Amino acid sequence: MRPILFLFIAMLLAGPCLAAVDIAPRGKPPVRLEDVYQQGGVPYIAVEDALSAVGLRGHWNSVKHTFRIRTSRGWAEITPASSYLKIGSDFYPLNDKPRFIDGRLRVTDSFVLNQLPLLVGKPIYFRNLDPHTDTPVKEEEGPIDQLFSFLLKKKQPAKSGPLIRAVAIDPGHGGLDTGAISVSGFKEKQVNLAVAQKLSKLLKMKLGVPIYLSRDGDYELTVKQRLESASRENVDLWLLLHAQAAFDELPHGVSLFIRPADIEAAQQGRDGRNNGSRQLAEQLAGALETSGIQVNGIYATPLLSLGRGDLPTVQVELGYLSNPGEREKLAQGDYQERLAQALYQGVRQFAELKKEKNR
Ligand SMILES: [Zn+2]
Repeated sequence: MRPILFLFIAMLLAGPCLAAVDIAPRGKPPVRLEDVYQQGGVPYIAVEDALSAVGLRGHWNSVKHTFRIRTSRGWAEITPASSYLKIGSDFYPLNDKPRFIDGRLRVTDSFVLNQLPLLVGKPIYFRNLDPHTDTPVKEEEGPIDQLFSFLLKKKQPAKSGPLIRAVAIDPGHGGLDTGAISVSGFKEKQVNLAVAQKLSKLLKMKLGVPIYLSRDGDYELTVKQRLESASRENVDLWLLLHAQAAFDELPHGVSLFIRPADIEAAQQGRDGRNNGSRQLAEQLAGALETSGIQVNGIYATPLLSLGRGDLPTVQVELGYLSNPGEREKLAQGDYQERLAQALYQGVRQFAELKKEKNR
């Protein structure tokens, strides 16, 4: 048994032999790409390699978490785990979502055959040289996920200590990154910051714990800077504040987002590590409703901004800038204060809940 086991391990350590493909704009000599992973006959090609084979260039934008491609039709974008290619303001569905494998964002042959021609403006020649080799594909986390799973671990507070030691608040967007904009020019980044500052004051005064804001003015943050406040040692919960806009004027109210894993854990009734976000979201929703603010629901979001850690984390979409009534309210200090009061109540109730559990 031993030598066989050793051989097996040695084979695993030797790493996968990669597949290879040829790509070219039709009529040009093909470029061979050899950094290709293959699973079930589907090749995963590094998007940078595929682009350079057809004379295009792109780069990873770590702030927006998208891969941007310069084309003659303007900027195009793909995002890990999203089923769309965006060119200018148009969206094109993808058969396979781009994935991070071995540290690079990768697309499949379907992208090369169906979407790459849209970007280049001519048909693409494509050939898979080893359609039957399978290379083991290890599911991997993108740069942001890595950062999150590294940083956003729930810390175990001492049982005798305060229930919530510190709160991190991330007012979304800032600076050139305005977020959603209303028809009147009112910007999401302004609502987010105003409510964050009001909430911060309430929490400091009434809970007497430190509050870390990712930004306290109108400037753009890198992902790392955005994460810094949430990754502090004593932070026990993290709120991300945003506002949204829809294509029509009807939608309104607050929506709460948590990680898909948190929803699953809660549904399976496990008293799992991931339930913190769900409990926090429920307390926030209850407090908002009590103060007469409409709550649309608690949703799971694959939005990568929430990361994969188990720190209780909720993204609050404070309202719709596309709804005329709500837009007007969101711009007013009174309504911002009401939102902040309700969120403060929710955090306080969440702390009480923890206290009962610890008893
Ligand atoms: Zn936003």
